[in-house]
Amino acid sequence: TVLVTGATGGLGNMVLNHLKNIIPQKEIYGLARNNDKSQKLLKSGFNVKIATYDDPTLLEQAFEGVNRLLLISSSEIDHRQEQHKNVIDAAQKAGVSYIAYTSFAKATKANSPLSEDHAYTENLILNTGIDHTFLRNNWYLENEKTLLDTALITGKVVHAGGNGQAGWQLRREFAEVAARAISGQFSFPNVLEVGGSLITYQQLFEALERFSGKKIEIISSDNNAASKYLQDFADLPKEVANIYVSSQEIIRSGDLAVQADNMTKYLGRPLISTDDALKELLHLT
Ligand code: NDP
Repeated sequence: TVLVTGATGGLGNMVLNHLKNIIPQKEIYGLARNNDKSQKLLKSGFNVKIATYDDPTLLEQAFEGVNRLLLISSSEIDHRQEQHKNVIDAAQKAGVSYIAYTSFAKATKANSPLSEDHAYTENLILNTGIDHTFLRNNWYLENEKTLLDTALITGKVVHAGGNGQAGWQLRREFAEVAARAISGQFSFPNVLEVGGSLITYQQLFEALERFSGKKIEIISSDNNAASKYLQDFADLPKEVANIYVSSQEIIRSGDLAVQADNMTKYLGRPLISTDDALKELLHLT
């Protein structure tokens, strides 16, 4: 059997739906921490186990009989090292034979504040000796939706990403790669860099301009100006705007300029193009 954590989240849910096209649904479990949210999964025909990452005993019970585990990194950034340790310890105790983990581009070499938890988690998994795949996911295109929508409305964008490149890709395609890895039906390496072609913010917004037919003034600036743009034009509170800008800063630093491995091979088909991904994200098809 296969168990996917974070099954009530965006990525986890998409993984389950791809997975059922590959292996029998009765072999698929989703881990949820919230009973109400898990009802939707049950209604869609998935098995559900209930546990939070903070409860080692419940986790071990949830992993009983599970062969393959997809650990989707916790969204609770403040204490996810401890949470991931709980999951991995429980998996080891329960005799799980393969772990796939959603990591970060070049996790062990990146300097980004986000990469530390991922490098820590990869190391924990390595130390268990359990067979594994680190799915080093680059950047969801969805992360840029607010900026893209605002640029379309205002005809202007101010970003702090400089000339840094990222391998943006739709979340559903990250999910599909993860589903194939965890299914056990395909050959996957221990470390896989997952992402789209590397482009800059400039190129991303040029693509938006190209197919939307709308002229967009693209301005590369500093953190303050990028934050002010989001506050003024996307109506975001300063703290939220600053979170967006901090991810632009990661891109500026070059940490996401990591060439993906052969996605066609691991996805079983080519990734969709940046233009098509943008159209899908912005409902412009
Ligand atoms: P979501 O926030 O939609 O989903 C997170 C999932 O984790 C939810 O199912 C949530 O449960 C579950 N979860 C959080 N904390 C706990 C806990 N303590 N115990 C058990 N389950 C928990 O995120 P996504 O699905 O979009 O993304 C998955 C992960 O990928 C994120 O958690 C984050 O680490 C990372 N990420 C990567 C990005 C990238 O660009 N590479 C961008 C954004 C996120 P519940 O539904 O109950 O809240």
